[in-house]
Amino acid sequence: MEPESLWFNGSSQKLEKLRTMGAVLRKSITKTIGKEKHVFQVEVNSCDLYEVVTESQNLSFPDVPFCGLCGSDDLRLGSHLAQNKHKYVTVTCNKCRGYVNFGKQQENPNIYFLRLKKDDKGNTMKGPDNKPLFDWKKFSQEEKG
Ligand SMILES: [Zn+2]
Repeated sequence: MEPESLWFNGSSQKLEKLRTMGAVLRKSITKTIGKEKHVFQVEVNSCDLYEVVTESQNLSFPDVPFCGLCGSDDLRLGSHLAQNKHKYVTVTCNKCRGYVNFGKQQENPNIYFLRLKKDDKGNTMKGPDNKPLFDWKKFSQEEKG
């Protein structure tokens, strides 16, 4: 038996039919940023489960429930273009205006992750709950570009 038919557990015939109809696979991903829920739709022009799951992993960041500086849940997901070329996606706190930037993977610029706080040795710092700390920055006009 081919691995693919194991994957789809007998429904590969149905998928083959969908494929010939030019069907797509969609996956919804919900990320919670402060009080807001953001639903992202990932769509691939194929019926390959691998493709859609891989695509959804581009949103490689966890929920952000609170501001890492003041603890407020009044957060906003935003983007801005610096010097007309550098694209930034940020989570900004509406209360203290602190923010955390998203980074992009060098190997694959479509993969976004939230920047993590590093110590002097370059190790990721962890909070009391042993989760990595996000690299929250205090608001400053200069750094916003
Ligand atoms: Zn804050």
